[in-house]
Amino acid sequence: MDLALNPSFVRDLQEFCLPKCIDFAEEMAKAGADVVVFTNPIANTGCISRQMYESQVHPFTKRLYRVTKEKQVKVGFHSCGLWDDRFDLLIEEAPDVLWPDKVDIGWLKRKYGGSVCILGNVKTTEIMLQGTPDQVKTEALKCLREAAGQGGYLLGADCVLPRDVPADNVRALIDTAREYSQAGGL
Ligand SMILES: [Zn+2]
Repeated sequence: MDLALNPSFVRDLQEFCLPKCIDFAEEMAKAGADVVVFTNPIANTGCISRQMYESQVHPFTKRLYRVTKEKQVKVGFHSCGLWDDRFDLLIEEAPDVLWPDKVDIGWLKRKYGGSVCILGNVKTTEIMLQGTPDQVKTEALKCLREAAGQGGYLLGADCVLPRDVPADNVRALIDTAREYSQAGGL
């Protein structure tokens, strides 16, 4: 609500929080991380408008990524929820890896595959949590066929895996990636 009613408060809050995020990135880099992953589940199309994102979130995210990259680590971003009307802004923020939630991965690859490494997009709940290893394999192969061409792609789920995901489903995902890469694509 304050984004609309009290934007100067939001700005002050973000100026307060940004250095904490940068501290987090710095500690991750010091601990030997190759990639620092940020996520944002509250700036998607279900929560705020594109215009609000562009004016009040985008500038801070750009600063966060720029400073994080200066620490010699890669930046990953998980766009939780729907972000269809603002992927161009996410790309402009220049993360190294974009890990989208609900999206047509083939479309995303065609549009932005030359600008960013894409991670995803096996469905976390329907497939990883509730599906069978065979369904995981089918869905993983679909993602690989749609998004792995020309490289710049990481196979994974479309959100964080819940605790109760069957281990066999995780193994099926890993095995499919191995088989695919060993076969040089299927
Ligand atoms: Zn998510």
